[in-house]
Amino acid sequence: MTLDSKVPAGPLKDKWENHKFNMKLVSPANKRKYDIIIVGTGLAGASAAASLGELGYNVKVFTYHDSARRAHSIAAQGGINAAKNYQNDGDSVYRLFYDTIKGGDFRSREANVYRLAEVSGNIIDQCVAQGVPFAREYGGMLDNRSFGGALVSRTFYAKGQTGQQLLLGAYSAMNRQIKLGKVKLYARREMVDLVVIDGIARGIIVRNLVTGEFEKYSAHAVILATGGYSNVFFLSTNAMNCNATAIWRAHKRGAAFANPCFTQIHPTCIPLHGEVQSKLTLMSESLRNDGRIWVSKIKGDMRHPNDIPEEERDYFLERKYPTYGNLSPRDISSRAAKEVVDEGRGAQGQEAVYLDFRDAINRLGRKVIEERYGNLFEMYKTITGEDPYEVPMKIYPAPHYTMGGLWVDYNLMSTIPGLFVAGEANFSDHGANRLGASALMQGLADGYFILPYTIGNYLATEKPSLINIDHPEFDKFKKEIEDFTHKLLSVKGKRTVDSIHKQLGRIMWNKVGMARSEQGLKEAINEIRELREEFWKNVNVVGSANDLNQCLERAGRVADYLELGELMAIDALHRNESCGAHFRVEYQTEEGEALRNDEEYAYVAAWEFKEIGKWELHKEPLVFETVQLATRSYK
Ligand SMILES: Cc1cc2nc3c(=O)[nH]c(=O)nc-3n(C[C@H](O)[C@H](O)[C@H](O)COP(=O)(O)OP(=O)(O)OC[C@H]3O[C@@H](n4cnc5c(N)ncnc54)[C@H](O)[C@@H]3O)c2cc1C
Repeated sequence: MTLDSKVPAGPLKDKWENHKFNMKLVSPANKRKYDIIIVGTGLAGASAAASLGELGYNVKVFTYHDSARRAHSIAAQGGINAAKNYQNDGDSVYRLFYDTIKGGDFRSREANVYRLAEVSGNIIDQCVAQGVPFAREYGGMLDNRSFGGALVSRTFYAKGQTGQQLLLGAYSAMNRQIKLGKVKLYARREMVDLVVIDGIARGIIVRNLVTGEFEKYSAHAVILATGGYSNVFFLSTNAMNCNATAIWRAHKRGAAFANPCFTQIHPTCIPLHGEVQSKLTLMSESLRNDGRIWVSKIKGDMRHPNDIPEEERDYFLERKYPTYGNLSPRDISSRAAKEVVDEGRGAQGQEAVYLDFRDAINRLGRKVIEERYGNLFEMYKTITGEDPYEVPMKIYPAPHYTMGGLWVDYNLMSTIPGLFVAGEANFSDHGANRLGASALMQGLADGYFILPYTIGNYLATEKPSLINIDHPEFDKFKKEIEDFTHKLLSVKGKRTVDSIHKQLGRIMWNKVGMARSEQGLKEAINEIRELREEFWKNVNVVGSANDLNQCLERAGRVADYLELGELMAIDALHRNESCGAHFRVEYQTEEGEALRNDEEYAYVAAWEFKEIGKWELHKEPLVFETVQLATRSYK
């Protein structure tokens, strides 16, 4: 396997423009001769489907939801970044680029990140034109707020529902194409395999989730926009249906998996409150614009937070990082919260810290806070029973976003020709840590502004043929997945799928989570292998293959997590450094900050699947032509 990033030559700021000019085009009359499959209708998939349909391609788009609108992107709360400099506070394309590279701890590709910053402004224009109701100031200008890791206000938002509103925009644009006949939507279909013939992606096999039937679809190119895999931890902020199956099965068919261990732990989630919980709820990072994070200075302090006087409160982020304070990036803020909890100073003895709006309400008035974050406050109250206008919220870090994913080149193509990957499903752009409000930006950049060019270039250059679904190879792939399903159903053991997933989640959180050590990772690898064996001997998948069977759906996804979890631990173990969200306890400064090793680890780790439990590592060196590698400091 060779990794050719295909980063164009020339100055950073001209790369994308030159590349676009040098790309081959498909003539308007020929576009209708090409079929494109898109899996996923989140922001990345829906925007790609709308744009490619508009261009004239025949698009087939798949989602396991009953409606495209239910993609996980709908959950995004806080906002989307763009370098518009509306606030006149010093923002620029270069500054967004620099913040993103630095935020990702210098483990992302310069050229991709610059392009992301470059197209960010267009995304906002596109969404405004679609009618996305971004918050506006009194004079009518679009409003902005700040997010972690930035000293400028560049985050566009629609109350606490930014993802939902952006998805409505993309979904409407896609629906228009459905009406025009250029996009065909297949809902309640789960992609279960990628069909690769002669080394090229030719189509997919999906399970019709209602009838249980396996269906075959072919195309000239396939795009996976299937989101992230944080649910490998069982408890995460992701919607319960999010999973890794599409990218994992593509990985097993030859697509390299990059930086699997780079998982973002988000600092502001509602803490775990019981054994039977299946989901953690995020409180948007935007709350840290006005909320102050603190714990008591006294260990084991069980007093009600409102009874703890000012001088006995430790605003630990403001103390440790005076410049960025509560808006320190997520990895830094998460570790700082863990540190005070480990010291025994968690809120009322719990694994939690306070997020307090008292000062903001006194300064701005309750109405302003209501306008900014009203629905988030209501959500918190509904879940916890406590009113955050009166009592500080309790928050704690939780698995949230995966920076790892399928390796892609500058054109967003994986190591399998004809297979493209967009949004959270690919590894690109965020390095070892994602700054807030940058995932929505990346998903939409990929779908609206990058794939429409690079897919055209692939089709015009490679001129791939369409293989009929009656081809024996398609049947071979279908037969393999039928056998796999039969195997799952025939174990007939004693353990539920969920109990195994939960056990895996505990291993992942304790040993492959916020802090990792050589010993813990080695233990995790063995424990995951043992659990995988137990799964195949003792799982109980009830129901049949021939109808709606959510137990079967979950079993397939957990089978994949049991392989991916091992690779995450292997990746974390081989990376003998700390960078961004990957914190190896052996590699830290005296002050407890992440200690990078640029000499040896300034590369993307791309893993090639050999057999279950066996991978080969390939390295894509990261070359920094423009930024100087520097120790991250948010002090
Ligand atoms: C609670 C929460 C809040 C967030 N807030 C923000 C924020 O404020 N700003 C920000 O920038 N980012 C935020 N994020 C991150 C952001 O929401 C996601 O990274 C982004 O929405 C992912 O979009 P996507 O299109 O890549 O994938 P998704 O929106 O996850 O869409 C995946 C799609 O793929 C489909 N799919 C998956 N697997 C299969 C399969 N095998 N077969 C068929 N279909 C499949 C699903 O049905 C779905 O349609 C937040 C994330 C969470 C969890």
